[in-house]
Amino acid sequence: MAWRRPPQRGPICRRSSEPILKPTPEEVRLIYRGHLIHIAGTPTLHEAAGALVSEPDGALAVDPEGRVSYAGPWRDLPPNMAHDEVVETAGCLLPGFVDTHLHYPQTFTTDAFGGGELLEWLERCVFPAEARLADTDYADAIAAQFVRRRIAAGTTAAMVFGSAFPAAQDALFGKTLDAGLRIISGRGIQTVGPASAAPLLTDDDTAIGLTRDEIARWHGREADGFARDARDALAQVAVVPRFSLSVTTDTLGRLGDLYAEVREAGVYFHSHLNENDRPGDGEIAAVRDVYGVEAYLDTYDGLFLPGSRRGGESLLGRRSVLAHSVHSRERELHRLAETKSSIAHCPTSQLFLGSGTMPWRRTVASGVNIAIGTDVGAGDEWLIPRVLNDAFKVHMSEEGLLAQAIHPAQLLFLGTLAGARALDQERLFGNFDVGKDADFVIVDAAAQPGFDTALAFAAEQSPEAHLFTLLMGMREAAVAAVHVRGRRVVAD
Ligand SMILES: [Zn+2]
Repeated sequence: MAWRRPPQRGPICRRSSEPILKPTPEEVRLIYRGHLIHIAGTPTLHEAAGALVSEPDGALAVDPEGRVSYAGPWRDLPPNMAHDEVVETAGCLLPGFVDTHLHYPQTFTTDAFGGGELLEWLERCVFPAEARLADTDYADAIAAQFVRRRIAAGTTAAMVFGSAFPAAQDALFGKTLDAGLRIISGRGIQTVGPASAAPLLTDDDTAIGLTRDEIARWHGREADGFARDARDALAQVAVVPRFSLSVTTDTLGRLGDLYAEVREAGVYFHSHLNENDRPGDGEIAAVRDVYGVEAYLDTYDGLFLPGSRRGGESLLGRRSVLAHSVHSRERELHRLAETKSSIAHCPTSQLFLGSGTMPWRRTVASGVNIAIGTDVGAGDEWLIPRVLNDAFKVHMSEEGLLAQAIHPAQLLFLGTLAGARALDQERLFGNFDVGKDADFVIVDAAAQPGFDTALAFAAEQSPEAHLFTLLMGMREAAVAAVHVRGRRVVAD
């Protein structure tokens, strides 16, 4: 991977004028000086507040391989780094944001009016929009825009629900690697659906064949070839049935066999779970009706035959991420926790589709790992802090004693380290622990009208108050620079 330094001059970064004392290219480190904020170590959600690091005059040292070699107070910078190159930043240094659920083919479909809830919106807005990606020129354009939006939002890693069309997936992976972002994605698998979904459907043989092919071509890819260990690569692949209503027992059986084969190679599983509970004809009612199962999660757990009898292999595990889980039963939450599967919590999307609110206290109490997803395009925000903002509001508004004011450190945890954990890549990124890849965002409050003043006021109160205002108040205008493995990420 080529090492590229940040631009010498820019709106927010400038090199110090201090002379550089004879570092060889192999030894050069870049030290970013700014307000350093992250959740250190490997805490649980409950331990996040105690793990919060907020260092107003902080330093983040990035070695030539793009890894963190020091993160802490500027005054404690090790003497052997005293002559490294310094990048003075005008703002905050945060770990890159991790979006654990968003839909690439819906890049242009945010704020689409479906006149109903989930199933109506899918049929009237989403399936027709996603069918357009059969046109490769259009797919190229949407992939380019998708990458630009991610960079603008500082989303360094993402679990991306893919297109049905292989050429569109090639455009997505290719442009993402060209830019230097991390991605996990897989083509959206649908073998049954309403008339408007017809262009997205295949038979089971084709679905399995295309998924195998995508794994072979993209799992473990870097910009310049395959990584030695696919689990370390910028690009990795997931098996992605849209949801249980888009496939059949035959499809789920075949996907279970496939997943059992590729699980050890680090391939992911990603889908939706318990999103819409409209009585009678909503998503959850339909899943129970079609499959005759006791609980929705059973369909992904190999228990997809009537009465939740076993029909195949489970798709759950530490590389399995289920979006929503708004209406999960107790035993479903415990099964998710037991299998080390994660929930992508998407409150912005849930507000848009009237899906309800994931019960915060009950879900946290189950021990399942909860991360954050924008769920673009039902979600109409690309910036993870905007979704954290909605998360704070919806859980603050839960009824009676269920209401919870989520601690600012827990909000940051959800948007960074918990996301890395959900993607089973916590050893690589998610915070500034020494040895991890330097995935980070520079936030320049001065670029957003009035925001620097609000932050300065909050900083007078406490580090937690400052972090809360930062996460609740920031908009994309404040995302000044985005780095993955120490390298500045740029759109074409
Ligand atoms: Zn979704």
